[in-house]
Amino acid sequence: MPAPLILTLLALAILAPAGLGWALLGPARPWLDEAATALALVGFAALLVEFVLSGRFRAVSGGVGVDRTMRWHQRIGRVLTVALLLHPFLYTLPDGAAFWRPDDVTRVHALGLGRAAIVSGLLAWLLLALLTLTAIWRDALPYRYETWRSMHGLGALLLVGLGLHHALAAGRYAAHPAVAGTLWALSGLAVLTMAWVALVRPLTRRPWRIAMVRPAARKIWEVVLEPVGHAGLAYRAGQFAWLKLDRGPFSRREHPFSIASAPAEAGRLRFLIKEAGDFTRTIGGLPTGARAFVDGPHGNLCLEGHSEPGIAFICGGVGVAPALGMIRHAAARGDLRPMLLLYGNRLADQILAAEELAALDWLTVVHVLGEPPPGWTGEAGRLDAALVARRCAPAAAAGWLFVLCGPAPMLATVRQALRGLGVPAARILMERFFDN
Ligand SMILES: Cc1cc2nc3c(=O)[nH]c(=O)nc-3n(C[C@H](O)[C@H](O)[C@H](O)COP(=O)(O)OP(=O)(O)OC[C@H]3O[C@@H](n4cnc5c(N)ncnc54)[C@H](O)[C@@H]3O)c2cc1C
Repeated sequence: MPAPLILTLLALAILAPAGLGWALLGPARPWLDEAATALALVGFAALLVEFVLSGRFRAVSGGVGVDRTMRWHQRIGRVLTVALLLHPFLYTLPDGAAFWRPDDVTRVHALGLGRAAIVSGLLAWLLLALLTLTAIWRDALPYRYETWRSMHGLGALLLVGLGLHHALAAGRYAAHPAVAGTLWALSGLAVLTMAWVALVRPLTRRPWRIAMVRPAARKIWEVVLEPVGHAGLAYRAGQFAWLKLDRGPFSRREHPFSIASAPAEAGRLRFLIKEAGDFTRTIGGLPTGARAFVDGPHGNLCLEGHSEPGIAFICGGVGVAPALGMIRHAAARGDLRPMLLLYGNRLADQILAAEELAALDWLTVVHVLGEPPPGWTGEAGRLDAALVARRCAPAAAAGWLFVLCGPAPMLATVRQALRGLGVPAARILMERFFDN
């Protein structure tokens, strides 16, 4: 789905309950009370929509990239948290049975909070604050990523129940059947999404087998997977997949890795995995023949639809993996446009596929080493703005496409340097491997 269509559908879903409420019951109370209700309804609907955004559905993220939909998920999450946490403090109308009038059926003159609504609202308020804060400071928590993710998902599900109860029990607009129906429908969608992701999707995953694990460079492993009883994955060079290695389909231990092979290598998938933490440090010990599961393909770091006269890849470390996929694919289908690979590593023995890359005469490889060995004749230092300007100015002037992949700080520096060379944003494709 294209980005404008997704954003329009998201906006419609998020605004639907508040819009319906206003259309049916009209803003009849002091403006601060109306603003409080609007924040509550918009915030709660956004929370429900967040489930669809984070569910890795190809219909949703296929067109824009799952990294982008995850970034939307994070940003929307922060905004809706502020809206929901703020809304109870804006009401000016009094609450309590003493203020209720028999003729005030739609609660224009007093709030209609019962004890149960106060309890569910308070619990939801606290849980939401906890979920958002632990998501923002995830790396500081003493939990594994998977543990955090499970807690985040279960907490969000509980929040749906509490939020729905509070909205239906306390809300003036939610008392109207049409608004209540919309809230029920969005909540149902959120719960179904969760059930699909946690139960149905793993059940329908096709099995793979670990065909080979071998050291590819210093602390980097090449893992080859082959399909079991099916033809494999239809993907575009440069895409990535979430892998469960030597685990069952319901395991929460899954990690994203770029596909370093080309679609032309029918069937098998190759991955280059760097030892970065508790999971990736176990890769070297994975047994050949063990089962694996692949969720993908995902991502939009692809050359399809790009007819620029040349391509410059700028990669840091194992960030070269998707570039390798694209270069191998270009070689396989005879796309011999001039290409440049600016490839940064700390040490010489971290360089991947050096001989294979050196053999391609349409590809210029520039190795950049942070700690070069004695006698090194290539570039030394970091992949910084000065180096990018020196090496990429001709490609920038010639209208080439730039493909960037690596850690976030490197991407930020390189992107800024390219923009400084006059490269428009549309000619820069990027993929981040880590948040930090
Ligand atoms: C789109 C994408 C493509 C990637 N491609 C490659 C690749 O080809 N080769 C490679 O070596 N690495 C790749 N990575 C990084 C790889 O996913 C992490 O190194 C790995 O998940 C770290 O797991 P760990 O438990 O060993 O380390 P940890 O120390 O637990 O994690 C290190 C960092 O990795 C991220 N991370 C950890 N677990 C997950 C997870 N399940 N899902 C998402 N992010 C997580 C977090 O930002 C964390 O801070 C890619 C990442 C992304 C987002």
